[in-house]
Amino acid sequence: MKLKGIGISGTISWGKVYLYLQESYSIPKYNVIDIPSEINRFIKALDKTIEDINKIKLSLEKTVSKDELFLYTSFILLLNDQNFVSMVTNEIKKGQKNAEWALYIVLEELISKFQNIPNISFAQRSEDISSIGEKIMMNLLAKKEDENLNIPPNSVIIARSISPTDPIIMEHKNIAGLITELGGYASHTAIMTRSLSIPSVLGVEFITSIAQNDEDIILNPLTGEVILKPTDEEFKEAKSLQAKQKRLLSSFHPFINKESKTIDGTSVDILANIAFVEEIPSLLKTSSKGIGLYRSEFIVLQSNSFPPEETQYKMLKKLFSTYHLDKEITIRTLDLGGDKIIPGYASANEKNPFLGYRAIRFCLSRPKLFLEQIRSILRAAYGAKNLKIMIPMVSNYEEIVETKMLFNEAIEQLQRENIPYCKSFKIGIMFEIPSIYYILDELSKEIDFISIGTNDLIQYLLACDRGNEKVAYLFKYSNPSVLRFLNDTINKANQLKIEVSMCGEMASDIYSIPILLGMGLRRFSIPPSSYMLFNKLLHCISMKECEELTKEVLTLISANEIENKVDKWIKERAYEVYEFFHLLK
Ligand code: PEP
Ligand code: MG
Repeated sequence: MKLKGIGISGTISWGKVYLYLQESYSIPKYNVIDIPSEINRFIKALDKTIEDINKIKLSLEKTVSKDELFLYTSFILLLNDQNFVSMVTNEIKKGQKNAEWALYIVLEELISKFQNIPNISFAQRSEDISSIGEKIMMNLLAKKEDENLNIPPNSVIIARSISPTDPIIMEHKNIAGLITELGGYASHTAIMTRSLSIPSVLGVEFITSIAQNDEDIILNPLTGEVILKPTDEEFKEAKSLQAKQKRLLSSFHPFINKESKTIDGTSVDILANIAFVEEIPSLLKTSSKGIGLYRSEFIVLQSNSFPPEETQYKMLKKLFSTYHLDKEITIRTLDLGGDKIIPGYASANEKNPFLGYRAIRFCLSRPKLFLEQIRSILRAAYGAKNLKIMIPMVSNYEEIVETKMLFNEAIEQLQRENIPYCKSFKIGIMFEIPSIYYILDELSKEIDFISIGTNDLIQYLLACDRGNEKVAYLFKYSNPSVLRFLNDTINKANQLKIEVSMCGEMASDIYSIPILLGMGLRRFSIPPSSYMLFNKLLHCISMKECEELTKEVLTLISANEIENKVDKWIKERAYEVYEFFHLLK
């Protein structure tokens, strides 16, 4: 049976279906007769939660300061609070409700009480309650947060949706592929699978109800095609396509560490987007100029709660010590919110999380947390020669001014405390909210660079959710409005002499690269896995031809027409690259 979704990353692959349907839990609601045993169940879950938290606290005691351990102490105080315990037990008695239902009601009541008090420390309290409540709920439902995933080798994971921080993605062991029903081309799940080279197809309607465990399945990440229970013939074809695809890829391999320039000698900076230190070894094999985007929020997302400054520092230190200190290293400050949520923080209940409490908005409203991150970055970067700090989701001038004030505060603190830190760094922004274009003149006096984040920029420019498979057909790099807007932005940045790069996924899109070069873009930050293809293409084209192509493309009004034109253009100049993308169409 053939199904169709959105092809994301990797080579054509196959394996056995592994249904992964536990991504969220629902709260069971029923009436109970045996009240004492229900109360007992709640108390047991409470005790187990205290035990779990004490274990975490103990394991951190040697590495973090007393102040930083306070969060765990406050969790335990809350769990031992008799008012809280009797609120839940009363709810069980009063309404004959099961423990999960009673806990849910009490948590909602407490969280909304604290949220409605306009004071940062009370807002923090509501987050603590939500986070701790989730842990008790997990224990009541006997779900282990860190349950060891036991995935058989050669599994193709099938899920309704999957968070970019799901352990299945983080560990990605034994995974031959990933297929989901929900999710679009620029969702963070897509970005992570590309980063980690997991073959994936997202947005395949009804796949979780059609596929059965252990069935054979083939996925084709270039065309988005999925074949369930393939015939021998289909298997044979998939194997021969995969072999051809791998042969072509190995012919691109020499470009992995060649100087990155066009045939007429124009140098282009190719930098890397990474989220994990584990990606550095493959980055080191390339001739990349440095790291153009380090998604620092994954430090927090991996811990599923806010790690103290010391832990963040150690994780970042690992990054700096694994990479070259003289190369460019761009750390993006926390970009939490949207589809990157940790329990108890940010925007779990927002109606429009991508338009809401995200990134710099979240950080500036939580200066204590933000200061800890800033301190940990500056400390870990001690010795780095080319540090860049990048602020996500900037939508106005004040956000930059406030952020710079916090950096100054962190520097004063570190000086006072005699702690070594990186004294020289550049500060810039993600250009991902289109209206920033109109204040770029003034902003450019406050910042050193901009990096265009097309994943968000396009969703805001076209009013098209980047992670929604239903509107994925609209999320097009070849949309004339997108191309014209990018052309204006790159030209304006060049006129203002402010450094401009692109770190959104469009920067590694083979069909967009020649157009972007023709617009004058010379700095691209891409997933390390796309490096050799990018460089191979570069070695087949000239800047003069790119400029001519761009000029022509900018006069066209149809995305299809643009795509066909570029397709033909690549075929004539870089046949193997063309073949790679056409092989499986
Ligand atoms: C972007 O928006 O283009 C970007 C690079 O950031 P993220 O995908 O992490 O939102
Ligand atoms: Mg973004």
